[in-house]
Amino acid sequence: FLFATKFVNMAGNTTLTMIKPGAVRRNLIGPILGMITEHGFKVEALKLTKLSARQAAKFYEVHRGKPFYDGLVNYMSSGPIVAAIIRKDNAVAEFRELIGNTDPEKASEGTIRKLFAESLSHNAVHGSDSDENAAKEAAFFFSETERFCPEEWHCDEDMEAY
Ligand code: GDP
Ligand code: MG
Repeated sequence: FLFATKFVNMAGNTTLTMIKPGAVRRNLIGPILGMITEHGFKVEALKLTKLSARQAAKFYEVHRGKPFYDGLVNYMSSGPIVAAIIRKDNAVAEFRELIGNTDPEKASEGTIRKLFAESLSHNAVHGSDSDENAAKEAAFFFSETERFCPEEWHCDEDMEAY
């Protein structure tokens, strides 16, 4: 029973986001982080950084071979990005809802992509698509000592997922 409780807690309290180069360039770090925190996400880790082409290629490995892959890698390594681990119950699904459809023309009103994306390929933000990928992507950007949780956030229960 204890194990089952732990297992449930491990699922889905964090996700990984990036504010993409175009959104950083257009000075949208503040508005986008503001929307994220207004929707109840806590920021557990945060950095401004820049991906090399090799690092962007690794991050988007799953899309290798698709027609948009080279452009995606080129774009994602074209300038600084903001990477963050954000925390909320059911984080992956909740955040995918907040960012909206991959294609901003299909994204619902009020979503981050509807508000801030320039196009399908320059769509302002990334959000992990599963708990497994959220954990992988978090580890790609952040070490254990770059993640912070005040006592009140009760992060200890899912430390195993790190
Ligand atoms: P996401 O999880 O919503 O970000 O979408 P995907 O994982 O499917 O794709 C990764 C990123 O590649 C997206 O955020 C888009 O910016 C870009 N992308 C996806 N599909 C297409 C496409 O058909 N054409 C172009 N140009 N870019 C795409
Ligand atoms: Mg994706």
